[in-house]
Amino acid sequence: MMKTGMIGLGAMGLGMARNLAKAGFLTAVYNRTAAKTAEFKVAVFDSPEALAADVDLVLICVSADQDVLSVVEAIALTVKSGTIVVDMSTVSSETAKKADAILAEKQVAFLDAPVSGGVEGAKNGKLAMMVGGDLEALEKARPVLEALAARIIYMGATGSGQATKAVNQIMGAGINQAVTEALAFAQAQGLALDKVIDVISGGASGNWFLQHRGWTMTQGTFAPGFKLALHHKDLKICQSMAAQTGFSTPITDMTISHYAQLMADGYGDEDISALYRLKKP
Ligand code: NAP
Repeated sequence: MMKTGMIGLGAMGLGMARNLAKAGFLTAVYNRTAAKTAEFKVAVFDSPEALAADVDLVLICVSADQDVLSVVEAIALTVKSGTIVVDMSTVSSETAKKADAILAEKQVAFLDAPVSGGVEGAKNGKLAMMVGGDLEALEKARPVLEALAARIIYMGATGSGQATKAVNQIMGAGINQAVTEALAFAQAQGLALDKVIDVISGGASGNWFLQHRGWTMTQGTFAPGFKLALHHKDLKICQSMAAQTGFSTPITDMTISHYAQLMADGYGDEDISALYRLKKP
């Protein structure tokens, strides 16, 4: 069996690590803030490089581009050739290519494998995973990844997993705009919001975000979830990827400026449904 280590026990990584442990794959963990490792009955390391030396498969779920690159640089110091490194963070395709180049020098395969499905998906092991990189490495890692994801789709060369995730993030911005605006309108109309959410969820406009965040946003509860500042980071990536091909993204641009306003007001750590704050009557 592949010895598997998890780096990053945040809102997503914690649920992932628990599922890996339940399936019997997890042998090691590392988290920058050590307290979050306390519940795991596996080897706990105090640096990414110490973990990397001890496993065959390294799974990463940290915040942003620079975090992934600093973790990968640390891993590269000690990693054994033949190890597979899978990054499940949401970063740019360019970062995935840089990480791949750093690890290729050590004969280590790198997969960019961002996920969708929220903290609920991470907790339930039902994420959707979009993977770029070496197909052979994916097939070796797949039995372990199946403990995390209900759907694992191979997209092609390194960076194509992250490009697919950018598609998902642009769509998420539009859905957030649509659901927050529509429910604020419902509130302004004086409708019973629980019934609005119930009936619309069963029709053609029904969607995950409405079902999972519709009620809480109308009650003014915005516990993450998916932190608004992280989606802002993702949309900036999408915006720059789009600009490189002269493609215009008006919904993405608008959402970035709405999020920037909310972040300036101190709401960056709230769930993305906090966009409702700007729409409510
Ligand atoms: P989070 O709760 O903020 O957790 C971030 C994790 O990364 C923490 O464990 C943090 O350690 C660690 N970390 C950050 N920078 C680091 C660094 N430089 N070195 C080492 N560790 C570092 O974020 P999250 O919601 O789990 O998201 C993680 C990634 O998944 C992001 O790329 C996000 O865009 C993506 N994602 C999130 C969701 C969602 O719904 N939340 C869904 C899909 C994808 P500490 O504990 O020390 O802070």
